[in-house]
Amino acid sequence: MTLTITDLTPPEGFERLVRAADPEHGLIALICLHSTVLGPAAGGCRMWAYPDEDAAIADVTRLARGMTYKNAMAGLGLGGGKSVIIGDARRDKTPGMMRAFGRAVDALKGSYYTAEDVGISPQDMAHAAQETRYAVGLSEGSGDPSPWTAEGVFRCLRVGAGHVFGDADLTGRRVLVQGLGHVGMSLAQKLHQAGAQLIVSDINQAAVQQACDELHAAACPTDQIFQPQIDIFAPCALGGVLTQDNVPHLSARLVCGAANNQLATPAVGSLLRERGITYLPDYVVNAGGIISVASEIHGQDDAWRRTRLDQIAERVAQMLTQARLRDTTRIADEMVEQMLAQAAA
Ligand code: NAD
Repeated sequence: MTLTITDLTPPEGFERLVRAADPEHGLIALICLHSTVLGPAAGGCRMWAYPDEDAAIADVTRLARGMTYKNAMAGLGLGGGKSVIIGDARRDKTPGMMRAFGRAVDALKGSYYTAEDVGISPQDMAHAAQETRYAVGLSEGSGDPSPWTAEGVFRCLRVGAGHVFGDADLTGRRVLVQGLGHVGMSLAQKLHQAGAQLIVSDINQAAVQQACDELHAAACPTDQIFQPQIDIFAPCALGGVLTQDNVPHLSARLVCGAANNQLATPAVGSLLRERGITYLPDYVVNAGGIISVASEIHGQDDAWRRTRLDQIAERVAQMLTQARLRDTTRIADEMVEQMLAQAAA
């Protein structure tokens, strides 16, 4: 065994930052525990070809902090953490590397649970799980989290519609879904069943065609998503989709989608509010996936997952009572900070 675990100095406000290296299997990983105030830290493992370790540390700390907020808001009894493996997931990843990563997770003795993220599949997690019981999101465990994410977004979107339009009924509402992947297609199906009029956009033309054929959607070119007259915008592709430049062109009055980090900068949140557009913060509405993973950690069933999904929709309703006065992301962050302060006290 060539695995070495080294504690690095974590940034202020973070609990722990660990470097795990196993030269025999080409592993260099960083594991960050932002907060375990509400429970053991949980968050996925990302594999990415970072240019250097500083870039990996910057990413893992940012992501770990985000998980604290997402897990707290979803009421999961879990703290926030994340891990990254440095390397090209298509070229460098091996079962041996994933097992070495599993040993690194195991060395943290249950203070951190890992799962899939960008570049890591359920199969990779299964290799890690040979070495630790703290690897979750396995095919035979809670399964694909995407349908849960889509269901959570859908429930929150209905709450948002009730707030914005005075009626949660989506019949005839024009909803633009950007990104028809695992989450976006499932969300589009739910919206169609609820009577919404769909406009869809994806670089994958096969997915667009499927939505047009099966869900009577209208297609929108990917570079024209700010042109159609719509009621609701559901970003389910990439981060940073809403910017200072494009928000002035957005006709929707509600934004609710699965994509992480939808606002290019925090100032975009204020701009949306100034324009009278209600933004439901991404980390609140897209927590269905981590809720599903958490059910595996806690050994819980579907009823537990559904209760948590109901709770995120209730939290959105609670947030919206203050939304006329303040930026919704700020409201959500403050709700979490209050929970953390109460738990710490
Ligand atoms: P996915 O990779 O299955 O789907 C993404 C889709 O977006 C693909 O169909 C892709 O072709 C499309 N796309 C990429 N660039 C585009 C562009 N410029 N314009 C339009 N479409 C584009 O991913 P997913 O699992 O469905 O996740 C979607 C988003 O939700 C991601 O941002 C992800 O981080 C976030 N998210 C997913 C989950 C989950 O459970 N899968 C949970 C939380 C957050």
